[in-house]
Amino acid sequence: MIKKEVTNKYADLEVALQIDCKKCSGLCCVALYCMKSDGFPENKQAGVPCKHLTTDFCCDIHPLLAAKKMKGCLAYDCFGAGQKVTQSSYVNENWKTNPDKADEIFQVFMKVFQLHQIAWYLLEALSLVSDDRAKDEIDALLVENIQMTATTEILVIDIASYKMRVDQALKKVSDQVAADSSDGTNGKDYFGKNFKGANLDGRDFSMALMIAANLKGCSLKKTNFLGADMRDANIKDTDLSGCVFLTQMQINAAQGNAKTKLPANLSRPFSWQGE
Ligand code: SF4
Ligand code: SF4
Repeated sequence: MIKKEVTNKYADLEVALQIDCKKCSGLCCVALYCMKSDGFPENKQAGVPCKHLTTDFCCDIHPLLAAKKMKGCLAYDCFGAGQKVTQSSYVNENWKTNPDKADEIFQVFMKVFQLHQIAWYLLEALSLVSDDRAKDEIDALLVENIQMTATTEILVIDIASYKMRVDQALKKVSDQVAADSSDGTNGKDYFGKNFKGANLDGRDFSMALMIAANLKGCSLKKTNFLGADMRDANIKDTDLSGCVFLTQMQINAAQGNAKTKLPANLSRPFSWQGE
């Protein structure tokens, strides 16, 4: 199984899944329930604006988030749902200009977030499969996804059965990646484990606890991080460019530095600068 470039057919979708906070109305800072213990500034009810959200939807302490150890704010990534809802789903209105619609807007945001997250995984899967049947299956799921996020009736769509089909398709790809490269030593609990400098090529860390694990300088070609908890994992001086199913949110939650190499579709968190 060779990782290939995702076809240009989905170039627009790839861009749409990258967050662009300047085009958003601060949706995550209002719609979500936050807990101080999870690295947010305070306990906050869903639907209540964070006290640091400015009138033009910026964060007044953004440059200080790392120093203040606000890991929840640093790690969050909406897969582009915020700007999609602000710019496309609700043109010329937002939760602030139309408070009567605020709850509805927040629900749409949560649904688009789920669908965008799924689309991200499907694109990653599409880059990994080589046989036409698997490609067609993922392709059909992506087309369905795009149609659902484009409709104005998104809240009445039940995505449970869609998610089930996606899970099955992703499991097949994930199993195939593991079968192609597993060394038979896969596990799920690596809390704080020191892997420093190890060759972890092809390891299956899907859904694994990697909290505070030391991956510094490891070789991670085709290593599968699907759903792994990467909070505070040490990925300094580490080349992650060949690993699979690694998301921006996982990267944001980990500890990297200027020498960390990332997959092409992920960005270096601003909080890593200068380390
Ligand atoms: S919802 Fe997304 S785009 Fe909007 S501010 Fe939050 S992370 Fe940025
Ligand atoms: S501190 Fe900033 S990024 Fe975090 S929830 Fe508040 S406004 Fe948003």
